[in-house]
Amino acid sequence: MPSASRVYSYSAVLMGSPILLKLFSHDEALASRVFRLIKQYEDLLTVNRAQSQVMDINHAAGRHPVTVSQPVFELIRCAKTASLYPGSAFNLAIGPLVKRWKIGFKGDTVPPADDIASLLSITRPEDVLLDEANSSVLLAKAGMEIDLGAIAKGYIADRVRDYLRKEGADLGLINLGGNIQTLGSPEGGWSVGLKKPFAADELIGTMDVENMSVVTSGTYERYFEQDGKRYHHILDPRTGYPLDNELDSVTIVSKNSIDGDIWTTLMFGMGVEKGCAALRARPDIEAIFVTKAKEVIFSSSHLFRFTLLDNGYRVTDSIA
Ligand code: AMP
Ligand code: MG
Repeated sequence: MPSASRVYSYSAVLMGSPILLKLFSHDEALASRVFRLIKQYEDLLTVNRAQSQVMDINHAAGRHPVTVSQPVFELIRCAKTASLYPGSAFNLAIGPLVKRWKIGFKGDTVPPADDIASLLSITRPEDVLLDEANSSVLLAKAGMEIDLGAIAKGYIADRVRDYLRKEGADLGLINLGGNIQTLGSPEGGWSVGLKKPFAADELIGTMDVENMSVVTSGTYERYFEQDGKRYHHILDPRTGYPLDNELDSVTIVSKNSIDGDIWTTLMFGMGVEKGCAALRARPDIEAIFVTKAKEVIFSSSHLFRFTLLDNGYRVTDSIA
C-alpha cells in the first residue's frame, strides 16, 4: 500500500466552492481532466447563472417542456423521487424561496411572511412534470424554479469517482466544498474531518473511511443574522423558513455521494430521533448528527471509525 507521504493534492474553485483532488500519483493532466469534467456538469446544472440546462427549464416555467441531456434528466428524476418521500424535507422545486431569501448572497434579509406564503404555492414537487420518452421537463406553473444545489455536488462527486476508476486510479479523494467521495483504501483509510460548527477550521473529530462518501450539511455553512437571529440556507419546504430544530449539522457516510447529499437534507428535516428510526431500514447509510447542545450522535457506525478530539463535544447515544 502507498504511504500517506505520496499523496498529491490539486485544487481549483468551481461551483462557488473550493475543490480539492487527492491522488497517489503526480498526474497534473488527470487532475485537469477531472476539473474539466466538474466544470462541464456545473455548466449543465447551475442555477446561479442565467444559462444552463436547468435554467432553460426554469425560464420555460408555465409555458413549455424543455428537452435536456440524459444526466440532467436522471438527476432531476432522482431529486423528484427524494422530494416525494413521505414527510421529505428535500424539495427540488424550492428554487423560488431560495432566490427570495438569497441566503449567503448580497442583499439577504428575512422576506415578508406574505411573500413566503405565496412563493410556497409554486414549490410543489408534483408540479415538476417529467416526460421520459422525450427526456423533457415541464414546470407546470409560471415562476417555478428547480434548484439542484442540495444534490448536484453529490452527483458530480460520484461521476468523478467513476472517472478516476475508469482512468485506472486505485486511490483518490475528491472534496467538492465539503462533499467528499473517496476511491480505494489507502493504509489507515481516508481520514475525513468532522467540522466544529461556527468554528472555522476546528474539528470535532475525524472519520476514517474506505471507498465511501462523506457529506455534511450544516447550518454554519451559509447563513446571515438579523435582529440577533440566525437564518441558514437549508429551508423547510413546509414553512418556507430555515429548518429549525436541535441540529447544527448532519453528516452522511454512504457508498454513493448522491445518497449522502439527499439524506443530509432528509435527516435535517426529521431530526435525530425520527432520522435514526428511518435509517434502521438503510444499513448502507449512516448519519452523524451534531446538535446545538454539543452532542455527536451516530445512527450506527459500521461504515467508519470515529476519533473524537478534545474540544467540548461528547458522543452520546441519544439527545439529552
Ligand atoms: P446542501 O449543502 O447539500 O445541504 O444544499 C443546500 C442548498 O440546497 C441550498 O443552498 C439551496 O440551494 C438548496 N436547498 C435549500 N433548502 C432545500 C430543501 N429543503 N430541499 C432541497 N434543496 C434545498
Ligand atoms: Mg445536500
